[in-house]
Amino acid sequence: MIEVSHCDLAYVQGASQVKVYDDFSLKVEQGESLVLIGPSGCGKSTLLYLLAGLLRPTGGELRILGERVMGTRLKTAFILQEYGLFPWLTVEQNVSLGLRVRHMPKRLYQGAVQEILHKMGLWEVKHHFPSQLSGGQRQRVALARVLTLQPDLLLMDEPLSALDALTRERLQILLLDIWQEQKLTTVLVTHSIEEAVFLGSRILVLADGRPTHVIGEILNPLVGQSGYRQTSEFFQNTSYVRSLLEGGMVG
Ligand code: ADP
Ligand code: MG
Repeated sequence: MIEVSHCDLAYVQGASQVKVYDDFSLKVEQGESLVLIGPSGCGKSTLLYLLAGLLRPTGGELRILGERVMGTRLKTAFILQEYGLFPWLTVEQNVSLGLRVRHMPKRLYQGAVQEILHKMGLWEVKHHFPSQLSGGQRQRVALARVLTLQPDLLLMDEPLSALDALTRERLQILLLDIWQEQKLTTVLVTHSIEEAVFLGSRILVLADGRPTHVIGEILNPLVGQSGYRQTSEFFQNTSYVRSLLEGGMVG
């Protein structure tokens, strides 16, 4: 699905450069749920911007389904922490926005929008404005909006970090459901070790420092299975990720 080959990326800051990636390569298979975790400022968001086609690498190349990424792509959805909702549009209007800007006639998208509003638990608030919603509801609107576009790749940058613990757990389960049902390929960035281990079919731990590199990779075949959070594998995985992030020795 994704092939990042020998990518370099540097930001220019005045007279100096911040080299975030140097000869960075990564492959993601179709249907994987890849999670990126690493210290603040290591380059997680930058990698998502590259995958989304919002930033161009200074060297190397990125391909999605074999096609070189040269700009944004219709089937790539990107979810940010800040929701990106329009305050003057209702929930329903926000959700259907992506379809309307593509000039799809209402009779064609109405059914799909209704279905998604139900599925995401937003039917009762479809005429509300974003300011009338909780953080969890806002993030579900943002998710519903990108799902109406039937993406094959979903990129998420700390989508749940502004939420309280319980809402966050509910949305984690919702994300798992969506990933499993739609066989989406997802790349999620999170700060939370538990969230990484709960949601990732593969977890990459990125190093502090410029440029960054992968310091650990965990394959997680149990992801999405019921009761996984209570298994010893879950605890082993979280403590392994924690030890990598702390730079500790790992046996
Ligand atoms: P993360 O998401 O892991 O916290 P980012 O990808 O946002 O990290 O940033 C990686 C590094 O690049 C950081 O050191 C940050 O300060 C720097 N950086 C990010 N965006 C810019 C920019 N537009 N100009 C200059 N430096 C930037
Ligand atoms: Mg970031």
